[in-house]
Amino acid sequence: MRPEEKRSADGPPLGRSAPLDGSESHEVESMGVNILLAEPRGFCAGVDRAIEIVERALTKFGAPIYVRHEIVHNTYVVNDLKQKGAIFIEDLADVPPGATLVFSAHGVSKAIQQDAQRRGFQIFDATCPLVTKVHVEVAKLNKEGYEFIMIGHKGHPEVEGTMGQLEYGIHLVEDVADVGNISPTQTQLLAVVTQTTLSVDDAAEITAAVKARFPLVRSPKMQDICYATQNRQDAVKVMSSQVDILIVVGSPTSSNSNRLAELANKLGTEAYMVDDASELQESWFEGKAKVGLTAGASAPEILVKQVIDRIKALGAVSVRKMDGIEETIKFPLPKGLKLDAQGELSAGLSKLHQQA
Ligand code: SF4
Repeated sequence: MRPEEKRSADGPPLGRSAPLDGSESHEVESMGVNILLAEPRGFCAGVDRAIEIVERALTKFGAPIYVRHEIVHNTYVVNDLKQKGAIFIEDLADVPPGATLVFSAHGVSKAIQQDAQRRGFQIFDATCPLVTKVHVEVAKLNKEGYEFIMIGHKGHPEVEGTMGQLEYGIHLVEDVADVGNISPTQTQLLAVVTQTTLSVDDAAEITAAVKARFPLVRSPKMQDICYATQNRQDAVKVMSSQVDILIVVGSPTSSNSNRLAELANKLGTEAYMVDDASELQESWFEGKAKVGLTAGASAPEILVKQVIDRIKALGAVSVRKMDGIEETIKFPLPKGLKLDAQGELSAGLSKLHQQA
């Protein structure tokens, strides 16, 4: 029996709930609730790398370390790094001269890159290499004369970063209706790029609409939606029919987490996204025997464990991991962040990286 399958010794009797507020417990309708854990879930290689860059910079150079935008879209991660000495800013004018600055996993525009260099900061780029891949593709095709149709969410920092690779020539579409409203200057050299964390199905539908309007449009050789987004959505597709309710651990700003809850809802499974266990509502679980649990790519496993504990307190009797893809991908760190032996040890022990 895996550790997470053991019932807490002081947990409530089967089929009874211990209310979250500690008031008198009462019968829940669901007897013998089972939790099915999605696989894969939680941290992806890009998030892991981005957090490690900030932690290493803090260890190596000392606090404060400035980070442009939330390093990843997760409240717990951001608060943890704030406590360790990271300062999150949006405007480079808020960073003092000579400071160390980290760009978030979402990437930044060329203008911000150049401004940061001009201001003389020591810069570490935590842009996910899969976002950088899209930036490189945009720069390469731009030299060949291409204009771009970007599928993504307006205002998302990744979209701003990718669109900001060029001064003009990238047209944003958020949905199928937008496709009819864009006006590229020519239709011979057009290419599609997408945000990496979109709904795979929505992106396919919008791409089809783009192709219908612009038959010569060039699609990326490999889709821009990343492996982590795809794998987490695939797992939700498999588990949706097996559960009565799905809980997604993720922050409201996290695009890929939102897409997981949205996908389950589309498939007819009641789904809720929570930033942490305190947001779980007892009423969601009434009459539910099978609870699915997953986490967006920026949500640490410690939050998943806390959610499991809460659901157990409501009467869950077992936790089972679904079969799924084992992700082994790792991205290299930027140069200049090697630590001494003690620093390397504490980097490996960071609680953000601890698994269940
Ligand atoms: S979700 Fe995808 S693109 Fe974003 S950081 Fe993770 S691997 Fe990179």
